[in-house]
Amino acid sequence: MKCIRCRERAEIHLRQHNSAFCRTCYVFYFHRQVERAIHKESMFTPEDEVLVAVSGGKDSLALWDVLVALGYRTVGLHLALGIGEYSATSTEKTEQFARARGLRLITVPLASEGPGLAISTVATSTNRKPCAACGTVKRHYFDGVAAEHGFRVVATGHNLDDEAARLLGNVLRWQTEHLAKQSPVLQPNHAKFARKVKPLFRISEYEAAVYAFVRGIDYIVEECPNSVGATQLVYKDVLNRLEAAMPGTKLTFVQEFLRAGRPAFVTAEAAPPPETCERCGMPSYGAICSFCRLVAEVERKQETRRSAQSG
Ligand code: SF4
Ligand SMILES: [Zn+2]
Ligand SMILES: [Zn+2]
Repeated sequence: MKCIRCRERAEIHLRQHNSAFCRTCYVFYFHRQVERAIHKESMFTPEDEVLVAVSGGKDSLALWDVLVALGYRTVGLHLALGIGEYSATSTEKTEQFARARGLRLITVPLASEGPGLAISTVATSTNRKPCAACGTVKRHYFDGVAAEHGFRVVATGHNLDDEAARLLGNVLRWQTEHLAKQSPVLQPNHAKFARKVKPLFRISEYEAAVYAFVRGIDYIVEECPNSVGATQLVYKDVLNRLEAAMPGTKLTFVQEFLRAGRPAFVTAEAAPPPETCERCGMPSYGAICSFCRLVAEVERKQETRRSAQSG
C-alpha cells in the first residue's frame, strides 16, 4: 500500500479515514488534524499561553509535542499524584520530556500539599474510590495553578476514545447535565476558571500512540493501577468492538453528538454559574467547594489519629 500523500511505501494504515501514510506524512497529517481542531473550535490562538496538563502518558505528551511543533506558547503542568511506583515513573518521564526540549514545567507534588494530598492518602482518609478523589483534586489544581499563574487556557490530552467512552457512559445513564457540558471547549463561567480545551478530541488512542512512537516520545506505558476494573474501560472495549466491525463509529458518535445532540441538552440544562468557595476562593457549588471538603476530611482523619496516638 502507498502513502496517499507522497506515494512512497505506507507504514501506517488508518481504517476509519480509509487512508495510509509513510512516517513523515503521518506526522504532517497528525499536526494538521490537531491544528484544524484548535482552529475550528476556537480553542486558542498563538497569542495565548496554554497550560498543558501532562501526566507522562502518551496522549498528554503527544499533545504537548504537537503544540510546540505548531508554534504555540505552552507551559506544562504535572501533578505528582502519589500513587506509588506508577506516579514516580510518570513524573520522571514528564520531567525528562520537558528537560530534553527545554520546556517549562510546573510540577505539583500532591503529597506535600496541605495536610498531604497523595491520592492514596486522600482515598483512604475519606473512604472514597481513588478515582473520585483523584478527579476532585486534579480539577482543583488545574484551575488553581492556571488562576495563580494567569493562564486563560488549560489543555488536556483527552482523545477520541476517552470522549466516546464518556459520551456512552453519559448516554447510558441519560446524565443530561453532563451531556450539556461534554464538549472539546468549555468556556469559563467564573473568574477563577480557565477555558478547558481538548485538542486531541478527534484523534484516536491508536493514532496518538503511533504519533508518540514515530516522534520517539518516551512515555509511561503502564496504566494507573487504580484504572483496573474502571467502567470507562468497559465502555472503551464495547466501542472498540463496534469500531472493528464498523470503522469510523467512534468519530461519528462523538462528532454527531456535538453537532446534533448536544444543543438540545444545552438549552434544557442552563445550569447557574458557580459561587466562590469560602475557604479557597475557587469556584464552588455551595459555600465550601468539593476539594476543600475533601481536604477537611483528610485533616479530621489525621487529627483523630494524632489524638488516638497521644491518648
Ligand atoms: S485511574 Fe483513577 S486514580 Fe489513576 S490517574 Fe486516573 S483518575 Fe487518577
Ligand atoms: Zn508519505
Ligand atoms: Zn475550596
